[in-house]
Amino acid sequence: MTGNRWVRRKRSLFGRRESSFSRRPRGGSIFFRVVLVAVVVTAAWYYLRDLQAPVVSGVPAAGPVGAKQELVLRLADGGTGLRQVQVTAVQGAKQVVLVDKSYGSGSHNAEERFTLEKGGLVDGPFELVIAARDHALFPLLQGNRLEQRLSLELDSQPPTLTVQSGTTNFNQGGAGLVVFTASEELGSAGIRVADHFFPAFRQASGSYLCLLAFPWNLAPGAFVPKIVASDRAGNERVTGIYFRTNAKKFPTDRIVVSQAFLDNKIVPDFQHYFPETSDPAALFLRVNRELRGQNLKTILEHGRETAATPLWQGAFQRLPKAAVPGYFAQTRTYLMGGRTVDRQTHLGIDLASTAQAPVPAANSGKVIFAGELGIYGDCVIIDHGLNLQTLYGHLSQIDVGEGTQVQKGETIGRTGTSGLAGGDHLHFDVLIAGRQVNPLEWWDAAWLENNIVGKLRLAGLP
Ligand SMILES: [Zn+2]
Repeated sequence: MTGNRWVRRKRSLFGRRESSFSRRPRGGSIFFRVVLVAVVVTAAWYYLRDLQAPVVSGVPAAGPVGAKQELVLRLADGGTGLRQVQVTAVQGAKQVVLVDKSYGSGSHNAEERFTLEKGGLVDGPFELVIAARDHALFPLLQGNRLEQRLSLELDSQPPTLTVQSGTTNFNQGGAGLVVFTASEELGSAGIRVADHFFPAFRQASGSYLCLLAFPWNLAPGAFVPKIVASDRAGNERVTGIYFRTNAKKFPTDRIVVSQAFLDNKIVPDFQHYFPETSDPAALFLRVNRELRGQNLKTILEHGRETAATPLWQGAFQRLPKAAVPGYFAQTRTYLMGGRTVDRQTHLGIDLASTAQAPVPAANSGKVIFAGELGIYGDCVIIDHGLNLQTLYGHLSQIDVGEGTQVQKGETIGRTGTSGLAGGDHLHFDVLIAGRQVNPLEWWDAAWLENNIVGKLRLAGLP
């Protein structure tokens, strides 16, 4: 019976063309067959439409991770969307499920954050098994499945740091160098002083070097440098250093802002910075306060563009045969018509020689800035490596381009009156991580040997 019916149906299927011309069209049956084919095709499409398993990234993919370190797993499925993810840590016979999550339809991207804190793993290697499925019906309604195994290492111990450079002496407004080693490779390291951070740099010998400043405006009692170092698993160690401080008194000066200076300097050179300020005296104040602040911020940002090894050698040169009309950290009181209108701190040293005197690079390095910089006028910044930079302001001519390597003594430009300068001179800054320090130390061969160069040798440098 069944066989006969099947044969009959089959025959009628082959006889379709003929029967459509016959007197009794079988419309209902054709409709049924079309629907059936549509259903089969749709079902097949549904079943096979997504053959791509979810994709995972992040975590990290290899290497050490800390117990408290936040691990971030990113999942993506462009087809039917994510259905489920399970993350299991496997260490020997121990298996700990760290993430077990299901997603509703339409979840094409997800981010799961977790730590190993509650995993009960011990320090050492372990495997992280990531299993993820999507909403596909294929295969056998299970969804496309991804399994990824990451070889990681649990490291819950912060690094041990050893300071090699003994006690560091700091003059207020001056610099110091700290040399230290770590029990393991560090992910980040530096010295924190109040809200300042001075990055440290690993040398070929494995020692870390950190040049830092005792900021001129920080009270000696508030100067408490701390090494802050994290290993590659993010375990952080904070440790103090031995140091001595020498408080300094900084000079003061009074500067009379004349009407001629306003008319011949401030208005022509600075009006474009503040076009809406028409009063010359008000314009001067905005230049002296706002533009100065912006320029200091720019200099601070350039402080990050530094080489990881020292590019300089020996004492720093100064502009030859120059008088010093302005000292470092000098508080300047500005007067107009006999009245105090402003007070600012001068954060470099002014050097006046003949007009348009050639300016030598104070030491070897790389030009990281050459151009106009507000109150500094035409300006050059040279990076000497290890956070150390020098700045040359008020130039009348710049002879070097950004990216140029310069040798100590090489002419980089000529002195001038560009920017906020009352007469032809060079404004010279020494910067550590973009913060001004007293240049006098860097001109002093004995200070440099005792405080910097001798310590570089501890790190295996010449
Ligand atoms: Zn100056």
